[in-house]
Amino acid sequence: MLPVFGHLNPDTDAIASALVYAHLLSRQGIDAQAYRLGDLNFETPFVLQKAGVEAPPLLPVLEAGTAVALVDHNERAQSAPNLADLQVTHVVDHHKLGDLTTMQPAFLRFEPVGCTATLLLKLHREARLQVEQADAWLMLSAILSDTLHFRSPTTTPNDREAVAFLAPIAGLRDVTAYALEMFAAKSDLGDTPAAELLKMDYKVFPFGDPAAQHPVQRWGLGVIETTNPGYVFGRQAELLDAMRAARAADGLDGVLLGVVDILNETNRMLVAGEAEAAVVQQVFGAPTLDGVADLGGRISRKKQIVPALEKYFETQS
Ligand code: MN
Ligand code: MN
Repeated sequence: MLPVFGHLNPDTDAIASALVYAHLLSRQGIDAQAYRLGDLNFETPFVLQKAGVEAPPLLPVLEAGTAVALVDHNERAQSAPNLADLQVTHVVDHHKLGDLTTMQPAFLRFEPVGCTATLLLKLHREARLQVEQADAWLMLSAILSDTLHFRSPTTTPNDREAVAFLAPIAGLRDVTAYALEMFAAKSDLGDTPAAELLKMDYKVFPFGDPAAQHPVQRWGLGVIETTNPGYVFGRQAELLDAMRAARAADGLDGVLLGVVDILNETNRMLVAGEAEAAVVQQVFGAPTLDGVADLGGRISRKKQIVPALEKYFETQS
């Protein structure tokens, strides 16, 4: 049985793509099963309910040498803790290639599109397999989620075409209304503890000279995408405390939390301390005032935040 899973702190794409890819592989004769690497965010249960699908179980500890399939990530820091000891046989992803190595030749599908699910639709078409209704719901929801309904600069024509193709199969007439419902579900954060809010959509990135044996710096980069940024800034002091606690507990060099206003397409970033503020000033030309730096329209961690930090730290090392 081949476990299929997305990244830690899973988002809707990490869960939906694991489910859809496991199903696709099963239809192709590979005994595959979807798993998750953490708790669901507030958006994904809404999507699963619409699709009529159960959440995948938590990934158990896998024995060294177990074959696994990765979706929506490839970096060790974002994966199963013992990924280096596992045998990666399949990867479908739309992120930059990180420190992935494989023991055997592997099936790899990487394209710079807005969502892993967009690639999974391509794989269905290439295999001449009809998309089933639940898979259509999962894929179109993941694409709307990852691209913020095509607002993100990561959006490609492939993502738009995929949603247009999938909506009739899902039986969805009003994509715009559905996207707004999804974003409302995601923004309904209730009294979730600040430490959980920070880690809901959070990834650790190694930055520095790629030729160096050890990464020069490790930064934790969180994002809260919301239609209600006022709620998040109402909890600013708690969140900044949680960010400093995470930096200390996880031995990180910096922690940032982007608060993305989905509807207005802006990013006001919480900045944990003075060291981070100096880097944010250098890299983005944005001063930090009372723990907040205005990053304007830079709403994509993948396309606008991480590459700029990466470039900065490569020239620093
Ligand atoms: Mn993801
Ligand atoms: Mn994704």
